[in-house]
Amino acid sequence: MALKTLALAAVIALAPLAAYSAGAPKAKPDPQVAVVKKVAGGKGFKAARAHIDANFERIVSDTVTLTEIPSPPHGEARRAAAYLAMLKAEPSLSDVEMDAEGNVMALRKGTGGGPLIVVAAHMDTVFPADTDVTVHKVGNELHAPGVGDDTVSLAVLLGFIRAMDAAHIKTHADILFVGDVGEEGPGNLRGMRYLFTKGRYAGKISAFISLEPGDEAEITNGGVGSIRYHVTFKGPGGHSYGAFGLVSPAFAMGTAIERIGQIKVPADPRTTYNVGVMGGGVSVNSIPNTVWMDVDMRSEDAGALKTLDGQMLAAIAGGVDAENGARSTSRGKISAVSDLIGERPVGMTDPAQPLVRTAQAVFVLAGTPAVLGKSSTDSNMPMSLGIPAITFPSGFKSGRAHSPEEYIDVTKAPAVAHMSNALLLILSVAGAR
Ligand SMILES: [Zn+2]
Repeated sequence: MALKTLALAAVIALAPLAAYSAGAPKAKPDPQVAVVKKVAGGKGFKAARAHIDANFERIVSDTVTLTEIPSPPHGEARRAAAYLAMLKAEPSLSDVEMDAEGNVMALRKGTGGGPLIVVAAHMDTVFPADTDVTVHKVGNELHAPGVGDDTVSLAVLLGFIRAMDAAHIKTHADILFVGDVGEEGPGNLRGMRYLFTKGRYAGKISAFISLEPGDEAEITNGGVGSIRYHVTFKGPGGHSYGAFGLVSPAFAMGTAIERIGQIKVPADPRTTYNVGVMGGGVSVNSIPNTVWMDVDMRSEDAGALKTLDGQMLAAIAGGVDAENGARSTSRGKISAVSDLIGERPVGMTDPAQPLVRTAQAVFVLAGTPAVLGKSSTDSNMPMSLGIPAITFPSGFKSGRAHSPEEYIDVTKAPAVAHMSNALLLILSVAGAR
């Protein structure tokens, strides 16, 4: 999950809710609030919450078990097999399977005729397979690469399934619990892309909830899109002294980077670009024949992203032309190829959507009105297909994501309270009975 932009507007939009209870002229009550209050006040939810509290240590130990199975991008298979076995152990689940892309999923059937909602957490982490993922307990924190993003959410989903079963909760909707692949960087949302466009549930999903680590009162209803290229500049190469004066891909790339740096982008919608990694060359005394760079572009708006994409490609072509115009091409010209290595669609779930309103109502009930935010998560895919989707915190306080110092706080009371918010959301959206 990437950096978020948060909007205050959402808090204001909720004023009628609070105002409603504070004696202001009666605003039309939000039906989602009534739904959430009913579920929260019900025997089922209370029993499920009590089960989470009583089985808290099991959620923590599942987190440790899964964290200690490395699961890099395109390398989730071992963890997927373990998660599949854990899901298979839950009697209320059917159609427990791994799809062709490597996503693991299980269906908790509703009372019939209801919609299908998907609740997912991703199995991949940003850390390479050889990373030491041993979990260390430090005070009330668990420290390990990937323990938070998003491994703890996988364990939370299991905890929810067991709690719903122990509380004999029935839902109107069918719920598909998914451990998906490919949320991080190089994975390029391949798990979600398959689930929503090729898998057996494609076209059948009414709503989507992605769980990511954290305990903040934030709802991600916006998907920041991105485009990433691996750009390779090629030239004839040669001896740095004997062939001096020939065109060099290094100068072409240097010029391209300088021009990229000149690109003007809007602050709103937030649009950004980056030259992240560079490399190439043979030796200090050789004119290189190949150099390369990886570039990243992001925006909250599809149009702005498209415009930036055009400017980026123009800067790259400009670097090539400038170099071919500046030095000798007698041994061959400079060329550049931009290979697409990542593309995530921009998307948005309207704040007026019942799914978003329900999530907001959950936080209002918890006494912490939420803010709406934009980020790059699994929800980008369903959002871009017009399917209501949000990303919601799974409940454990977490920090230093994407760094070896990553940790989660396993202090019980706040974690149970915040996990219960996510469960209340799922049960409210699924029409718990
Ligand atoms: Zn994540």
